Amino acid sequence: MIKYCDIKGITRSFEPQLSEAVNRVIASGWYILGNECKDFEQQFAQYCGCRHCIGTANGLDALTIIMLAYKELGVMQQGDEVIVPANTYIASILAILQAGLKPVLCEPTWESCNIDPERIEALITPRTKAIMAVHLYGRCANIDHIEKIARRHSLKIIEDSAQAHGAITGGRRTGNLGDASAFSFYPGKNLGALGDGGAITTNDNELAQTARTIANYGSQKKYVNLYKGVNSRLDEIQAAILAVKLQRLDTDNGRRMDIAAAYNAGISNPHITLPMAGKREEHVYHIYPIFCKQREQLRQHLLENEIETLIHYPVPPHKQQALKEFENLELPITERIHNEELSLPCHPAMSDNEVQKVIEAVNAFSIQG
Ligand SMILES: *Cc1c(COP(=O)(O)O)cnc(C)c1O
Repeated sequence: MIKYCDIKGITRSFEPQLSEAVNRVIASGWYILGNECKDFEQQFAQYCGCRHCIGTANGLDALTIIMLAYKELGVMQQGDEVIVPANTYIASILAILQAGLKPVLCEPTWESCNIDPERIEALITPRTKAIMAVHLYGRCANIDHIEKIARRHSLKIIEDSAQAHGAITGGRRTGNLGDASAFSFYPGKNLGALGDGGAITTNDNELAQTARTIANYGSQKKYVNLYKGVNSRLDEIQAAILAVKLQRLDTDNGRRMDIAAAYNAGISNPHITLPMAGKREEHVYHIYPIFCKQREQLRQHLLENEIETLIHYPVPPHKQQALKEFENLELPITERIHNEELSLPCHPAMSDNEVQKVIEAVNAFSIQG
C-alpha cells in the first residue's frame, strides 16, 4: 500500500538526530520556555526572513493570538470583520470567531483554490479590519493583489501559513508576506513536530511583544498579568525536534515539488483536472490536489491499486453544523472544490517507483457505467 503520508518513514529519516535532541531536553530538566524554544524561534524567524517568531501550542492558537493581540493594541474591536477564503480548513474561521471577530467568507478562484482578490472589495465594510490570506495546499495566495487592496482600505493582512512553510513569492517567504503570519507544526505539515506546535511570525515589534505576552497567560513577569491571556506555548521537546527538521525543510519541499512536477507531466486523463501550474517556488505542495467529478469512483479505483488518498476537505466550513449561521451563503466555487478534490500521496519519503505507480494508476482510471 502506498500511504497518503508516511509520517513514520519521515520521522525515521531524521534519526538519530531526533532522539538525540529529545534526550538532550529530557536530561536538561527544563521543559517549557527555555533555550530550545528561543533557539528555534530565532532560526525560524531567520528562515522566514522575519524579525520575530513566537512559538505557540498549535496553529489555531497562533492565528487566534494574532487577532487577540490586535484587539489589545486597539487595532481591532469586538465584532470587527475579517475576510477569509470560504474553502479553507475550518481552523482559519474558528480562530476569527475565538478572537471575538466576524468571519466574512470569500470565494476562491477555481484555478488557484486561494482567495479571489477580485471578490474581496465587494465584501469590505466599515468594520472590516483584516484579510486572512490562506496559502491553501502550500500555494502562496496572490499576495501582490491582496496587498494593493489592503493598502487602499487600511486593512491588516494575516497569513495562514499552516500549509505553506517555506513557499516563496516575489522573493519573500510565507511568514513575511503580511502583517502577521500563523504556522502549524502538526505532525503532517511540511514542517511537523512529533505532537502539536505552532508559531507566529511578524516584523511588528509591538504585535510580537503583545502576542508573546498573551500566549503566556498575559504575563511578561511571573505573577503579573497584563491581559486575560491564554496558555499556548511551544514546549522544549517540540522546539528541539523542529530545529532538527528545519534544517532539511528546503530539501524536503524540493522533493515535494519534484513529485508534483512528475505528476503534472505524467498524469493525463480526460476525467481529471490537475492543479494550476505556477512558479515552482510558489507552491510547496503540502497537498497535491486533483479534481474529478467522479471522485468516489476514482478514490475506490486508486484504493484497489493500493494507493491511499485523502479529501481536503469533504465538507466546506459553511456546511458544517458548527457554522450553521453561514449555511445559506452561496459559494458555488467553494462547493465545487469540496465536491471534486482528491489529494494524491506527495511527501518526501515517497520513492520514484511509488510516484510512477500513482501516475499509472491515475491514468488507468476510466468511468464505469
Ligand atoms: C493545520 C491548519 C491549521 C491549524 O493548525 P493546528 O496546528 O492543527 O491547530 C490552520 N489552518 C490551516 C489552513 C491548516 O491546514
